[in-house]
Amino acid sequence: MVNTLPNQTAVQPTVLQLPSDQDATGRTLGAEEIALVTEAIQSGTLTSTKGKFVKALEQKFAELLGVKYAYACSSGSAAVHVAVAAIDPEPGDEIITTSVTDMGALTPILYQGAIPVFADVDPKTWNVTAETIERCLTDRTKAIIVTHLFGNPCNMTDIMALANARGIPVIEDTAQAFLAQHNDQYVGSIGTIGCFSLQQGKHITTGEGGIVATNDDAIARRMFLFINKAFGYGDPNPDHYFIALNYRMNELTGAVATAQLSKLNGVVERRRAAAAKLTEKLQGLPGIETPAVDSRNVHVYWKYCLRVDSNVVTNGAVGLAKKLKEDKGIFSAPRYIQKPAFQCEIFEKQRTFGNSRFPFTLARPEAVDYTPAKFPGTFEGLEKVLVLPWNEAYTDEHIDYIADAIKQALAQLS
Ligand SMILES: *Cc1c(COP(=O)(O)O)cnc(C)c1O
Repeated sequence: MVNTLPNQTAVQPTVLQLPSDQDATGRTLGAEEIALVTEAIQSGTLTSTKGKFVKALEQKFAELLGVKYAYACSSGSAAVHVAVAAIDPEPGDEIITTSVTDMGALTPILYQGAIPVFADVDPKTWNVTAETIERCLTDRTKAIIVTHLFGNPCNMTDIMALANARGIPVIEDTAQAFLAQHNDQYVGSIGTIGCFSLQQGKHITTGEGGIVATNDDAIARRMFLFINKAFGYGDPNPDHYFIALNYRMNELTGAVATAQLSKLNGVVERRRAAAAKLTEKLQGLPGIETPAVDSRNVHVYWKYCLRVDSNVVTNGAVGLAKKLKEDKGIFSAPRYIQKPAFQCEIFEKQRTFGNSRFPFTLARPEAVDYTPAKFPGTFEGLEKVLVLPWNEAYTDEHIDYIADAIKQALAQLS
């Protein structure tokens, strides 16, 4: 290598900067949020126990989703914790969940002393199905948690039929699926409880935040209490009724969330329209499959996922990701999560409270047997998936850029 100034004539690949959900280029934060936050600060009341913003958010969200109750909390992980606590499992009870999800959907199960039992996923949608859930059912099953992964609903018709036949509550982790629908019903309002996240990268955001939703009076009461140190605000003789944390959302967050909520429909529509355009442009390309969406579903595209066939595309999803990044500056994520949840140390080494391994000490051996052969869909799904970053701010130019980048990369890799 000759030590000279950079070669001025070398052709630099032109890279189009895509809007990002990690900063203002791909977020809908603006004047409305500033106005409401200002109002919250000027009111001098920043706790939701006394203020009006979080209460207004809860009411608006319940109306939008078409449920009786919604309660705001501090994160999506907190929302799942609130849901599990409301179900109130006995130590060692089993809660069926998915091997492909955010860890925030799993650790709450352990904190409440229950055993997560991993259902395999459909490798074409990365979602659990009634069939994979059924294989995990035992007389110790206390609840089922489904994640509508990437914004594409699970088959709730079949899952609810299975759960209802056994009287088992279903918690819908809807963190990635605001306003997604199955059979004309919003997901998060179909099961017993819906859980939502307002984290930086979700459809709408307050940086951190969460919401739980339900139609069930008793569950609603327990969720409200669990968010509030189980203190019976408003009761004649209020007490701390059971073990619970402070998971409240504050008024500043509530103000931003209220403004964000008014933009949610638009965000979802733009994401869907952009996704439809990309799907159209990618039709018939060898070696990739565009998202598989059941005709009963409305997919809200938290991310846009391709399935990449390594028999056709050199090095499969990893190879395609590398090319997209090197040639076009597009950062995509092969595998989504590096490994199935059950291969993380928390499960493999049962790292929980001190050296106790509680609650794993109460588990049936089969419930904590993570033999890979039990999870063919999970391994195939993670091997094939390529997660493209997706955003409501994508223009036709961005979509053309992504589509052309994929076409060029595939031409070179096949
Ligand atoms: C983001 C997410 C969570 C956790 O939400 P946080 O707000 O990050 O705690 C849980 N489940 C799923 C599916 C998520 O995408």
